[in-house]
Amino acid sequence: MLEQLASGGSVSQQNLADLISHLEGGLRRRLHDLAHKARITAYGTAVYLRGLIEFSNICKQNCLYCGLRSGNRTLSRYRLLPEEILDCCREGYALGYRTFVLQSGEDDWYTTDKLVRLITSVKQQFPDAALTLSVGERDDESYTRLYAAGADRFLLRHETASAPLYRALHPTMEYAERRDRLRALQRIGYQVGAGFMVGLPGQTAADLADDLLYLQELQPDMIGIGPFLPHRDTPLRDEQPGTVENTLDMIALARLMVPDALIPATTAMGTAHPNGRERALQAGANVLMPNLSPMSVRAKYMLYNNKICTGDESAQCRFCLEQRVKSAGFHVDMGRGDSLKHLSRSLQEQ
Ligand code: SAH
Ligand code: SF4
Repeated sequence: MLEQLASGGSVSQQNLADLISHLEGGLRRRLHDLAHKARITAYGTAVYLRGLIEFSNICKQNCLYCGLRSGNRTLSRYRLLPEEILDCCREGYALGYRTFVLQSGEDDWYTTDKLVRLITSVKQQFPDAALTLSVGERDDESYTRLYAAGADRFLLRHETASAPLYRALHPTMEYAERRDRLRALQRIGYQVGAGFMVGLPGQTAADLADDLLYLQELQPDMIGIGPFLPHRDTPLRDEQPGTVENTLDMIALARLMVPDALIPATTAMGTAHPNGRERALQAGANVLMPNLSPMSVRAKYMLYNNKICTGDESAQCRFCLEQRVKSAGFHVDMGRGDSLKHLSRSLQEQ
């Protein structure tokens, strides 16, 4: 079945779920090895760096797993002003970054008008940099205006492809709407990132198979996969975290099933294990997202406990990651790093 997946074949949900529940030892090594080869074929040894700016931890949603959920009254909230965000971009640009990812909770203070002005300024000042948004669900009109203002990419994980699990975890959001928003982003023209958490309470091998099959159907440009990590001020505080091993398997399967996607070695992977990100790079991941947020707010963007890199300067993160990339056998590429899917779409349009 691994060979079948590696050669672009399709598999049934049942067979994929069986495979997922039997991955260990030699089979697991074979999977990671095939994923590594698929990544080399698609992107070589390049690892793309994106400067992440966590610009607001204020959120109107109430996702059960997340430390930023509106129900968490103990969190000290912050919001960076547009000028402060531009300062982060300036620092990042000087460090060589050519992609900025602006991420936040669903914070309505940042209206479409305000975001349009911000995006316009970023693109004016740094015209050769790509801009990625990760600000949650908005309507078509808003997404369209943000794209027209110059946003190139959008990260919106589908979180889980299981409808019952999605409903249990998202009291303020709709499963069908999440998928509809992802399709809307694609229609509008963004390079789109979907993805999911591994090891959510109650998640089964069949659910994970559905996550992978959904990605294969959606064909996103980017795929973010990380372990679920409990946060002490959420209802899931006592649940078991997702494991590095299972997450690596999902990264590797995602690489085989959507070979030309950009796949980050996530901060959650680095939090779950000191070498989690390096191991993700060796199992098919090819992107890192070092933090560019001001030091004063880092510790407040706590999606889960023990999040790493909250005490490092941006420059330190940049060089720490470069070392890690090299030690894992890859090289840093500071270019925009557009997805191959996007590049082939652009060629077709010409
Ligand atoms: N509000 C936006 C972006 C910020 S949250 C959004 O929800 O799209 C970014 C991602 O963090 C989420 O998509 C989720 O997958 C991840 N996340 C949140 N809480 C987490 C936790 N406890 N463990 C692991 N990942 C988590
Ligand atoms: Fe808000 Fe995103 Fe956290 Fe959900 S995952 S509570 S939308 S920040």
